[in-house]
Amino acid sequence: MEDVIIVGAGPAGASAAFYLGQAGLRVRVLEKEKLPRYKACGGGLSPRMLARYFPFTCDPVIEARAQSVRYGYAGDEVTVPLHDGDLAFVMRSRFDAFILEHARAEVHQGLAVRQVVEKADRVEVTTAGGQSFEARYVIGADGANSIVARALPRRARRRPVAAIEVEAPAPPGYLASLSQSPLFLLGDIQYGYAWVFPKVDHLSVGIAAWRPGPGELQARLRPIMARYGIDLEQGAWHGHPIPIHGTTRQLATRRILLAGDAASLADPLTGEGIRLAIKSGWLAAQAIIRGDSRQYARAIRAQIGNSHSLGLGLAGLFYTATSPCYALGVCNPLASRAFIEMLSDRIHYAGLIARIFGTLPLYLAEESARMIAQRARGRKAPR
Ligand SMILES: Cc1cc2nc3c(=O)[nH]c(=O)nc-3n(C[C@H](O)[C@H](O)[C@H](O)COP(=O)(O)OP(=O)(O)OC[C@H]3O[C@@H](n4cnc5c(N)ncnc54)[C@H](O)[C@@H]3O)c2cc1C
Repeated sequence: MEDVIIVGAGPAGASAAFYLGQAGLRVRVLEKEKLPRYKACGGGLSPRMLARYFPFTCDPVIEARAQSVRYGYAGDEVTVPLHDGDLAFVMRSRFDAFILEHARAEVHQGLAVRQVVEKADRVEVTTAGGQSFEARYVIGADGANSIVARALPRRARRRPVAAIEVEAPAPPGYLASLSQSPLFLLGDIQYGYAWVFPKVDHLSVGIAAWRPGPGELQARLRPIMARYGIDLEQGAWHGHPIPIHGTTRQLATRRILLAGDAASLADPLTGEGIRLAIKSGWLAAQAIIRGDSRQYARAIRAQIGNSHSLGLGLAGLFYTATSPCYALGVCNPLASRAFIEMLSDRIHYAGLIARIFGTLPLYLAEESARMIAQRARGRKAPR
């Protein structure tokens, strides 16, 4: 019998395997795909966050690093400069396999888990092929359509966001400029946004929204990308849900813990989920190492859930009143930088909201001065 079976080798499962292996526990990872496998994902993350969570460098799998980020809304565009290490991009196939390579664990690929049953002293895991395994604990890190979550009587309520990712060729000369400055496009779809992210030799473009109509994501994405000369017909299209934070009912029992998308931990405003998967993988490992799985749900609430609840409120405001939020939040570089800082896990939504309102008087004063100067000169000043 193993100490821990981890179902799924995405960032949640691979990080949990890494921390548990480091602590000397016997770990078995069951992954239904052969690695490296494709995962529909923009792959946007903070290298600073990676440096916080892993003692090894992830540089070998970083495809591009942003110097700034561009936001487009209703024909306007604003560029926010970034510090080095704020935002980078990975291909998930390489990234996930890279994290797992560092884990001291027995990894089984091509084994899909079909059923998980918790007993008093262990958990039994059965695969689709009929093999069974036993462990003292199971971590369900099997993503948005988690099988492990079904073993929990009161699992997390989901608020799924639908998303599409296309790996598209970059128009000639466009990749270099984009690799410096990825693009977030607001206002083209209700309760969602589109993006253009750089990779080494192509672009990852996509769109996500809360409860879009049938075929709406595809229909919206085509004209948006046509504006940028991006040919989507030559790329591979992938649809996938993003289970954003909901009202948490149950994330763990005595012996089963859910992490990452299986626990519906993606960010409610952006759908960002790699950081939350790594963080919850780490928290799940810590709870098991201490032999107290009950503390896991408390730790998730304290370190992710409370912030996400504020984020859910902010997301509601942002997507219903995008115009003022764009003008007063996104265009305010101090607030925008705080938003990017969240990716590095240094501040939470309370900090972001404080930064938005705290910097508003200064931003409005600067904007007024800019407009007065612009009127005096009789022309439009660049932002
Ligand atoms: C289109 C799109 C774009 C996104 N862009 C970003 C972004 O730019 N930045 C960001 O931070 N987040 C982004 N996300 C969110 C991010 O991809 C997820 O939050 C993240 O992948 C969650 O990691 P995970 O380890 O929990 O699950 P996953 O990455 O989904 O990994 C789950 C693993 O479990 C395996 N598995 C599933 N079922 C079984 C089974 N029955 N038995 C065994 N193995 C199984 C799967 O094969 C998979 O390898 C995006 C999501 C989408 C859909």
